[in-house]
Amino acid sequence: MKEEDYYTLLGVAKGASAEEIKKAYRKKAMEFHPDRNPGNKAAEEKFKKISRAYEVLSDEQKRKLYDTHGEAAFEQGGPAGPGGQRGGFRGADPMDIFNQMFGGGNPFGDMFGGGNQGQETGGEDLRFDIKLTLEEAATGVSKKINYRKHVSCDKCSGSGAEAGSKKSRCSTCGGQGHVVRSNGLFAMRQVCPSCGGEGEKIDKPCRACAGEGRVVGDASVDIKIPPGVDTGTRLRSSANGSAGRRGNPAGDLYIVITVLDHELFERDGDDLACAVPVKFSIAALGGSIDVPKLKGKTILKIPAGTQGGTTFRLKGEGMPNLRGSGAGDLLVRVDIDVPKKMTDAQRAALKAYSDACGDVETPVSDSWKQKFKKFFG
Ligand SMILES: [Zn+2]
Ligand SMILES: [Zn+2]
Repeated sequence: MKEEDYYTLLGVAKGASAEEIKKAYRKKAMEFHPDRNPGNKAAEEKFKKISRAYEVLSDEQKRKLYDTHGEAAFEQGGPAGPGGQRGGFRGADPMDIFNQMFGGGNPFGDMFGGGNQGQETGGEDLRFDIKLTLEEAATGVSKKINYRKHVSCDKCSGSGAEAGSKKSRCSTCGGQGHVVRSNGLFAMRQVCPSCGGEGEKIDKPCRACAGEGRVVGDASVDIKIPPGVDTGTRLRSSANGSAGRRGNPAGDLYIVITVLDHELFERDGDDLACAVPVKFSIAALGGSIDVPKLKGKTILKIPAGTQGGTTFRLKGEGMPNLRGSGAGDLLVRVDIDVPKKMTDAQRAALKAYSDACGDVETPVSDSWKQKFKKFFG
């Protein structure tokens, strides 16, 4: 069990300073972050462990407990266990620990990079991915989504303090909530490591939430997805992200849409495209073909002599525009369907047709033949 030791995990000495612990975590967290190691279970496990180690060692009180009792201090029913979230797992989500370290921004520069800046103690923004069928994307849909997030702690009503606890100004940051650190090149403003950005310290932190004022819990929200969304569309559900520490404002929840491929339709912005196989005889003689639409079907009349690849545009039968300005078109492309198997009667009829053609060319092949001749001089 030696390798599970929190100090060993972070690669610091037992007497390491808060700064050394922070630096060590920063380095290891960047290395083992799931975004950097997609699909790597071992890295994910390691990331969880080092985050857990940092969570404890970066907190003066928890570190003291750990030094005396070891990990047992945080097991359910341990000497000062903070209430035992999630059956023995004690404390915050590794991602939250990581996000807090980086001020809620993502150091890998994804689409939410830099979120929550200037609001250091506010809750983290969360992301929820949702998959829709093309039909759902066209009509819009309501979805109930269930997820985990930090919710306000019931025991202390989000204050983070035990009843009767006193608050005093944080001496590390002088009540500012942040400190300025230099790595030799840049001076960076960081959340104060002692008070987590609160600017104050509570003498008796709430045991249920370890003074955070929030705990991990279940959440659900009804999301109304408007018609016209596409893959990559991002909807913001205001204040449905994680609860802030000690009653600070909650982050936002971002719903990121993926629209699934459709068997019949291909989407290009607001337009839809669909290829319809048509018998050679109908293309030659003209006639009616069945064309699928997102809702129901329609009959399209094609003129005699329709060539393969010809596209017909059905105005307004595409996807609705997300910003409400009408709808795209449905582009129907005619594919000439050449039979692979024929009955004797069909073959005889086609042979008769071929004989009847004699040397007479169609307009298309006639013009092609002329270009062919010209090309070869
Ligand atoms: Zn609490
Ligand atoms: Zn402070």
